[in-house]
Amino acid sequence: MADRDAKQIGYIYGPVPSRRLGRSLGIDVVPAKVCTLDCVYCQIGRTTEKSTVRRPFFAVHDVLDELAGKLAGGVEADYITIGGSGEPTLNSQIGVLIDGIRAITRIPVAIITNGTLLYRPDVRADCAKADLVVPSLDAADAEAFEAVNRPASDISIEKLVSGLAQFREEFSGQIWLEVFLIEGMNTTPDQITALKRHIDRIRPDRIQLNSAVRPAAEPGIEAIDRQRMDEIARRIGGNCEVVGAAPQARADRHVQRTSAEVLSMLKRRPCRLEDICAGIGISRNEAVKHITLLLNEKAITSERQGGVTYYCTRSE
Ligand code: SF4
Repeated sequence: MADRDAKQIGYIYGPVPSRRLGRSLGIDVVPAKVCTLDCVYCQIGRTTEKSTVRRPFFAVHDVLDELAGKLAGGVEADYITIGGSGEPTLNSQIGVLIDGIRAITRIPVAIITNGTLLYRPDVRADCAKADLVVPSLDAADAEAFEAVNRPASDISIEKLVSGLAQFREEFSGQIWLEVFLIEGMNTTPDQITALKRHIDRIRPDRIQLNSAVRPAAEPGIEAIDRQRMDEIARRIGGNCEVVGAAPQARADRHVQRTSAEVLSMLKRRPCRLEDICAGIGISRNEAVKHITLLLNEKAITSERQGGVTYYCTRSE
């Protein structure tokens, strides 16, 4: 059934502009949504078949015929990207598929994978045929792995990290490791330190930090602002870059909105720092940031009374 659906809508999509891959001509090798994980941030939605069983989802010659037709029609791309509406390495034919692609074009081949099956030699051998592999690692320990990625029962964080490290040993092409960050789930200083230890073991060519710039499978998963993402990138160090952060305008709007709330509170009565934190429900650090902003703008003043600092609007 899934095979027939995939054939009806075609296997090839794009080329789509990709910040990381340029013009990416995608091949969807797994039907929606068969995956080894059920990530809370997934843009496709909830996993409907959580599986670790590899199988052929289609006849390779069908996809190669479609690809040959596209290329003959003049389609140009920087990468042919094997991905899917699930985990592409679940397709047992991707090695044969890459051999077939090589026979008809010199366009480099990329695979976007969650990396969970790289502990298997057959999956490593298939992925090693690509020029570029873009795996994921979002968690440093079992607890975060469960919270963020909700893996199939026979997948563990240790299996994932060992598979990635083993693949690095065997693969001479490029590995760009994607780390998807969710505030409150995998971003504490300890979690970032532990993640860095895993990354040092995996030795990717690039580390790319992403966050929920598009709607996620679960509500409440929000993009992290650029400043915070840059801070985490600096902690990880090496070839770490930010590829997905909340647009600056959105972050600025958030700052403006909260500053307006602080100002409106102070217009009603002078407040201490603790009053502002409790009244608006923000942290001490955040309250200090807004107060500093408003003081610099001369919208508020501070006054000492009975050894305590009160903030108030200038008209009071
Ligand atoms: S691994 Fe990819 S396809 Fe699977 S649930 Fe996570 S984000 Fe979605």
